[in-house]
Amino acid sequence: MKVETIAIHAGNHIDPTSRAVVQPIVTATTFERGDDGGFPGGHIYSRASNPNRASLENVLAKLEGGEEAAAFSSGNAAGMSVFQSLEPGNHIIAPDDMYHGLRNQLKTLFAGILEFDFVNVNDSTVLRSHIKPNTKLIWLETPSNPLLKVTDIKMVVAIAAGHDIKVVCDNTFATPLCQQPLALGADMVMHSTTKYFGGHSDLMGGALITAKKSDWWQKIRNVQTMGGAIPSPTDCYYLTRSIKTLPYRMRGHVKNAQLLAEYLDNHDKIEKVLYPGLQSHPQYEIAKEQMTGFGAVLSFLLKGGEDEAKRVVNALQLFTQATSLGGVESLVEHRASVEGPDTQTPLNLLRVSVGLEHIDDLIADMAQALG
Ligand SMILES: *Cc1c(COP(=O)(O)O)cnc(C)c1O
Repeated sequence: MKVETIAIHAGNHIDPTSRAVVQPIVTATTFERGDDGGFPGGHIYSRASNPNRASLENVLAKLEGGEEAAAFSSGNAAGMSVFQSLEPGNHIIAPDDMYHGLRNQLKTLFAGILEFDFVNVNDSTVLRSHIKPNTKLIWLETPSNPLLKVTDIKMVVAIAAGHDIKVVCDNTFATPLCQQPLALGADMVMHSTTKYFGGHSDLMGGALITAKKSDWWQKIRNVQTMGGAIPSPTDCYYLTRSIKTLPYRMRGHVKNAQLLAEYLDNHDKIEKVLYPGLQSHPQYEIAKEQMTGFGAVLSFLLKGGEDEAKRVVNALQLFTQATSLGGVESLVEHRASVEGPDTQTPLNLLRVSVGLEHIDDLIADMAQALG
């Protein structure tokens, strides 16, 4: 089935008792045993599983083309579950511009437990040279945040294949509508479902989707259910509901982003636009090869430096100055301020999450703010 159909049907079933067309929210924490002591409803206790979470996990797995998915209370909880599934002393290679929240998590919570190197994973020589006997995981994030660097997933998978190394890809910026890392050979996909899956800036969630069930996946399931960083049934319901429109929303986001990127690229106050859909993007060819859409986050660098970047943020009316991305409303952010002192982000960079407003209104607001 096609993705639009999966998005609508794979996370829903008609309730057999009430015949409600939309699957109801099951708030119960516990489920009745059958006379034989079994669990005829398939659920025991809601930390372990819940009907709404099961439906959400089903649609997530189908959308990414994986065997199974696990839903979490946030993207960071999903990422942390991967790190917790490793053995003490294992080594991780991660991108040098990894999402700062997960980078800080590794550096703060896993220091002394895991080893990690943040490197330019796009350079195969650099990547190879950092592989050690205890390397168990290569973490990818493509396109990356906020520099929109694109990693050749197949290249990394080929390097990892020669060793006993898993490849996990944070696919938050692309969504399965724009990129399917499992089809390119990655072992697992991670999402902050807070972003495009939720799509309305009103719920937090995370997900892991595995290509294949394995002992490693079972360990991640244990981290999920024993650790308990699970989403509530209500959050699962709203996420499942939002996913029904994800394909159409994504198409609108991507179209707007391309037009805004082209507008900014031709503006004389702008030094550079970072967007994988522009031919000027250094990895445009890789992006074209492995993505079916170029996503809807873009960054641009202003000629006038940090002061000008901060002036423009405040002059924008329709773009709200706020962190995060993937909602229907457009957001803008001076990223270096958010990321703190060890940031690699240029001080004159603004990151935009392009929303679903009409492109003419977005461009008009940019035009007045740039002056
Ligand atoms: C937001 C984000 C995360 C973290 O997700 P939360 O839901 O905020 O915990 C991880 N990776 C990327 C690329 C993100 O944008």
